Amino acid sequence: MKNKKTLYIILFSILLIILLAFAIWMFIAGAAEKLTYEQFESLMRQNSINQNSLEEKIINGVHVISGTYQKDGTIHKFTVGINNQQYDYLLNDPIFRDFVRNIVTNQELQSPIWAIIQSTLPILIMILFYIWIFSSMAKGGMGGGILGGKSQRPRQIKSDVKFSDVAGINEEKTELVELVDYLKNPNKYAMMGARVPKGVLMEGPPGTGKTLLAKAVAGEANVAFFTMAGSEFEEMFVGLGASRVRDLFGDAKKAAPCIIFIDEIDAVGRKRNTAMGSATNEQTLNQLLVEMDGFGSNSGVIVMAATNRVDVLDPALLRPGRFDRTIQISLPDIREREAILKLHARNKSVSPEIDWKRVAERTPGFSGAQLENVLNESAILVVRNKRKMITLNDIDEAIDRVVGGPAKKSRAMTVQDKKVVSYHEAGHALIGLKLDSASKVQKVTIIPRGNAGGYTIMTPKDESNFSSKEDLYSSIAGYLGGRASEEIIFGKNKITTGAHDDLDKATNIARRMVTQFGMSSLGLTKYLTMQEESYGQTKGVYSDEVAFKIDNEINTILENCYKTAHGIISKNLPLLELIAESLRVLETITAEQIEYINKYNKLPEEVIKEKERMEKEEKKKNAGEILEFEPDDDEKK
Ligand code: ADP
Ligand code: ZN
Repeated sequence: MKNKKTLYIILFSILLIILLAFAIWMFIAGAAEKLTYEQFESLMRQNSINQNSLEEKIINGVHVISGTYQKDGTIHKFTVGINNQQYDYLLNDPIFRDFVRNIVTNQELQSPIWAIIQSTLPILIMILFYIWIFSSMAKGGMGGGILGGKSQRPRQIKSDVKFSDVAGINEEKTELVELVDYLKNPNKYAMMGARVPKGVLMEGPPGTGKTLLAKAVAGEANVAFFTMAGSEFEEMFVGLGASRVRDLFGDAKKAAPCIIFIDEIDAVGRKRNTAMGSATNEQTLNQLLVEMDGFGSNSGVIVMAATNRVDVLDPALLRPGRFDRTIQISLPDIREREAILKLHARNKSVSPEIDWKRVAERTPGFSGAQLENVLNESAILVVRNKRKMITLNDIDEAIDRVVGGPAKKSRAMTVQDKKVVSYHEAGHALIGLKLDSASKVQKVTIIPRGNAGGYTIMTPKDESNFSSKEDLYSSIAGYLGGRASEEIIFGKNKITTGAHDDLDKATNIARRMVTQFGMSSLGLTKYLTMQEESYGQTKGVYSDEVAFKIDNEINTILENCYKTAHGIISKNLPLLELIAESLRVLETITAEQIEYINKYNKLPEEVIKEKERMEKEEKKKNAGEILEFEPDDDEKK
């Protein structure tokens, strides 16, 4: 791609040089005085024109005569344009006849084709050049041209998504039903003088169905759906983004009633005059504002936009008459997850034993897109293993894949690694088990995935929207449980980097408790807005002294929670050992197995069996090694 670009630049430069040479040549050659017909005629009458210097070209039906004349003793170059009528007149005039005939003879010496080429070449080159520039701009893609533009026209698609294809988010759907009705009969609303929102902003994490919902509105209303992502407006050339916005709204108005969907609107709609916005961006945003103000509220165009960051949007976007309605879409709760899973399982062959409620329980924090992905991955597993139906096992495996990439079964884990990870994860699990308000442990594994050595999946015990101070303390203790367990088992100097991610999460909660939730000795002051925090701003909002206090306070919370975790694990060492051992044997243990261990204080049946099998194999292997070793020894002797 890069080579292609260089080639374009070289071509471009050559063209420029040719053009320049042409211009200079034209300038030198054409440094002639332009005469009017009358001046020419009078010069002929005065007999000052040099008969032999005359040359004639016909350009676009005009006889262009060039030559020299004498005046005051000096020779002047001249050109004159004579139309056919004047030419005929000259030809028939007894005084000028011979004069003109002479020129005619001259003209025959020059090839008319050459004359045409000569006169039109510069224009031709210019036209070709422009065609080339514009086509390369429109083509898009990296190699598309020197301007590196992306696809320029907005995409118009026909949506056949219906509300029934969107599971959960019921209240939000109800809100949108009215819009559908409006798109179906805009006149009804216009006649009543009812004002329908022009812009609807959907805020929510990625994959929660914002695009899907916008498509469903278009599909239900059976209207055109224009879509463009905010990032497509970001251009290296100032003005291109703005012109795309113009195109988008221009096309949409022609196709009304319709929906315009702008994904990731934060890419263009960032607050102006911030460090993160650029001049280009500002122009694009201004154009967007102008366009939104430009169409009447009953023009049949509704703009839907999606973002996961309302806080970074320019407030101007949110004023009445623009995006005056905001719909919050959050990650699906357990019931919504169940509905989404069922919806996407519709067209797959699934074993009847699967209880979707249980699967939903195991997928806290998953977005709709991730749930869809889980089912897709399960289907792929079924195909790969040449089976007929998706089973609970497939779904389990798929969940793990979606959480952290395919299991790295091949990655060899040393015995020591396995030991460390088993105690680390057992620590998390134990806190979950023993701290009342902590989350419920769903599954613990020491199989490495992605960057994590192992992980523990926990779910909130109830699906309340609020977390109490106690809940937050428990969560932090849970995150710190891994490190505490490592320290207790291996000693202060043997702790590992495995807790890195846990510390990150724990610190985040603690920071928010202090700066946002007013849950520390610093009182109720809210120190950081979400936006300031997301800009990575940590200072300037408050004094260094307060910053120091905040850091201290966070540290105190973390220390206290660590003590809690440490205490719980120290008091339950036998339980920790049992969980860790089960993990080393089975690698993955379920909530049921952990509960069994907790209740009966012994290893579950399946662990014991597996352990015995492993020990037998180990013995066999050792025996084999000795046998293999002996002949080797003999040879050496
Ligand atoms: P967003 O625009 O919020 O990032 P999308 O609308 O692109 O998310 O969702 C991606 C995919 O996830 C959808 O095509 C759909 O398959 C699935 N999905 C997400 N949310 C839902 C939902 N509530 N119901 C059904 N499917 C969903
Ligand atoms: Zn951990």
